[in-house]
Amino acid sequence: MTKWVYNFGAGVNDGNASLRNLLGGKGANLAEMASIDLPVPPGFTITTEVCTAYYDNDRNYPAELKAQVDAALARIEEAVGRKFGDKDKPLLVSVRSGARVSMPGMMDTVLNLGLNDTTVLGLAVGSGDSRFAWDSYRRFIQMYGSVVLGVDHHRFEEIIEHVKLEADVIEDTALTPAHWQQVVEGYKNMVAEEIGKPFPQDPQDQLWGAISAVFGSWMNPRANVYRRLHDIPANWGTAVNVQAMVFGNMGDDCATGVCFTRDPSTGLNEFYGEYLVNAQGEDVVAGIRTPRPLSQAYAKPGEVSMEVALPEAYVELKNVRSILETHYKDMQDIEFTVQQNKLYMLQTRSGKRSAAASLRIAVEMAEEGLIDRNTAIMRVNPSALDQLLHPTLDPKAEKKQFAKGLPASPGAASGAVVFSADEAEFRAQRGESVVLVRIETSPEDIHGMHAARGILTTRGGMTSHAAVVARGMGRPCVAGAGGISVDYGAQTLSAGGVTIRAGEILTIDGATGEVFAGSVKMIEPQLSGDFGTLMGWADEIRRLKVRTNAETPLDAETARKFGAEGIGLCRTEHMFFDPARIGAVRQMIMAKDEAGRRTALAKLLPFQREDFISLFKIMEGLPVTIRLLDPPLHEFLPHGEAELKEVADALGMDAATIKERAEELSEANPMLGHRGCRLGVTYPEIYEMQARAIFEAAVEVSKTAKAPVPEIMIPLVGTKRELDITRAQVERMAKAVFEETGKTVEYSIGTMIELPRAALTADQIAESADFFSFGTNDLTQTVFGLSRDDAGKFLPAYVEQGILPKDPFVSIDVDGVGALVRIAAEKGRSKKDKLKLGICGEHGGDPASIAFCESVGLDYVSCSPYRVPVARLAAAQAAIEAKETHFRDK
Ligand code: PEP
Ligand code: MG
Repeated sequence: MTKWVYNFGAGVNDGNASLRNLLGGKGANLAEMASIDLPVPPGFTITTEVCTAYYDNDRNYPAELKAQVDAALARIEEAVGRKFGDKDKPLLVSVRSGARVSMPGMMDTVLNLGLNDTTVLGLAVGSGDSRFAWDSYRRFIQMYGSVVLGVDHHRFEEIIEHVKLEADVIEDTALTPAHWQQVVEGYKNMVAEEIGKPFPQDPQDQLWGAISAVFGSWMNPRANVYRRLHDIPANWGTAVNVQAMVFGNMGDDCATGVCFTRDPSTGLNEFYGEYLVNAQGEDVVAGIRTPRPLSQAYAKPGEVSMEVALPEAYVELKNVRSILETHYKDMQDIEFTVQQNKLYMLQTRSGKRSAAASLRIAVEMAEEGLIDRNTAIMRVNPSALDQLLHPTLDPKAEKKQFAKGLPASPGAASGAVVFSADEAEFRAQRGESVVLVRIETSPEDIHGMHAARGILTTRGGMTSHAAVVARGMGRPCVAGAGGISVDYGAQTLSAGGVTIRAGEILTIDGATGEVFAGSVKMIEPQLSGDFGTLMGWADEIRRLKVRTNAETPLDAETARKFGAEGIGLCRTEHMFFDPARIGAVRQMIMAKDEAGRRTALAKLLPFQREDFISLFKIMEGLPVTIRLLDPPLHEFLPHGEAELKEVADALGMDAATIKERAEELSEANPMLGHRGCRLGVTYPEIYEMQARAIFEAAVEVSKTAKAPVPEIMIPLVGTKRELDITRAQVERMAKAVFEETGKTVEYSIGTMIELPRAALTADQIAESADFFSFGTNDLTQTVFGLSRDDAGKFLPAYVEQGILPKDPFVSIDVDGVGALVRIAAEKGRSKKDKLKLGICGEHGGDPASIAFCESVGLDYVSCSPYRVPVARLAAAQAAIEAKETHFRDK
């Protein structure tokens, strides 16, 4: 016979904490607490399998369930010496749901079940407190009426208010037993009117009504939405817990409360919680009365802590606190009740905590010897580190949401709205905080993005220019906020009928994608010593190296500070936009022939050489991967008429010629056009100049500092032949520079794998490559046939509707893009078993994608500077998981 019901408490514990899937979190932990002799009122758990069977069987219960529930109930009656429905000594129970994971949206709790017109009198006599009895009865009708019978909870409040008005009292506590009896009568009449039949008096009907309400709520719309958003399968089901009531509302030696074994917002190793004297559980959360602090250390003047009010129970609770932490080896979130100075435990679970608290608790518990270092590493969510590295909005601050976009780069920023990069720079130089608002950004805007506190775009996805560059700089960014319309002419942005003008203040939250009108209070980041400690432990265990994507000295320095072990991607095109060089770049593009191009490129050479010298110096002998020019050339030409004229004047040409050339270069689909190594094949002099700059810089630096290790990377390769041609260009330059200078440096030449064809023919390509770096931004774009720059318009809807589990530009699509990465890694290493493999797409900073990289055996991940700590921790977690899986499988 299937066991559908598990007992706990009073010496019989059928379950334990390991049975979470069967008993739900609450049921499993009640059994566990009871089995280590903590004071848990007896009860039983109806398993999650009943829930599944109930739905599989057209909402009918398994035949044996009733008998098992009756037997379990009889055991409680026996244990507490009271009977269900007994007129003198009635047993009252609570009924609570409890899924594997805590799940809002479901029916939660019904207390005092078993009360009716007869048992209430028994309770009054037995407790010697008729006020308590009638108050308990009205609470029961109220809870049962709203959560089981579906009566609007306002209807109950109206009745209490009415009685208070008639009695001329303000506080509930001033009501007499007769008043509460009057409330009960009012409730019963109102409920009967609402549901068309009397409030159930038979405790058995009440019990089954509540059990069915819990199971029924598993499939209610709110729970369904929550499950879908959190990937919780419907067939997990919920359990139901039925437990003998203990009363926190029986007088001033009674109380109820919730607490955390450590402070959940700071992580401080101090007992933290709230309690209410003479109250039942829901009073603490409902906010009817203001709860008081548990320990005196947290009490404000005039507040009476539990430590002072109920000293015996407090000492007992403190003892339970240390027992629970030692037992569960984690910070616990506890619910308790004190009845006539005796403590009872009603729940324990691992407590939710802030990012700062999670870090502190993990490190301190490891240092206390409660957990080992690997466990500490696994306890901290890498994404939460973002919160510790950037300013965040004060959760308590009032704010008015204006619109929402994609959470493109974490952190919060407030500032005056500006619509152009030049203005951002100009106003920032005057000391103003500005938020740069653009429909989309382009490399021309970099100076303004740098000057701005935050960036907001209305187009583009998570790998759009704005998103990638902002992450690199550590600037908060909300991208692709399609609900906002920007009018550059009028200098306004509007959404939902609200218009914000240039100069007015706007706040963005790059961690959530929210945009607010006006300024919002912020919390500045603070890095504690715990951060360095945990990072140190992570570095000891991880296998994957962590590099950074950086091209400016500032970014490279920031990344080194965060622990980067080299540069995995230097996008050289970003260096071309500097005002000192863009002229030469444009001259090169406008040149009629190779000779003209070479003249222009010669002007660029010293600039590029200086760029590389400074990067090599900062990286002090660590590998630096430099990608040769990638974007299509028209990206470097001006867009507006005024700029066009300026450029024409600077180049001594007429605007019409430049326009003509721009039109010639324009492409229907530039992402698939004349870019990447295709530029190197058609204009070899470009890559030659870049290669020369790299080698000259390397030779120069090696004279006085640690010799750099340049890794020259060819983008957008689709065939081995493309790599052969461009590789030869680079090698020629190495040879030339080494001959000219009489010095050599070590270097390697590799390619990005960012096209499906490259992945599928990686064995051929590997013959000509010293390393592969997966460009998963373009690879995602080309595998899905999904434009990186336009996806913002529809991808959020795809994720919302569950068509895609996550934005594939954020977290790698393991089944599709990941399959190609795996194929390429295997094929590449089949030709060269030591082939160095890395990733430099945005996925290199995403914890889930990093776990995937570990499983494929990549050598390193590369990500924007501010994500380096996130990647170090995620890499350590991936290594620990890989080891554990290895041992499990053995
Ligand atoms: C990529 O495609 O993943 C990549 C890193 O290059 P980019 O984003 O510059 O195209
Ligand atoms: Mg790319």
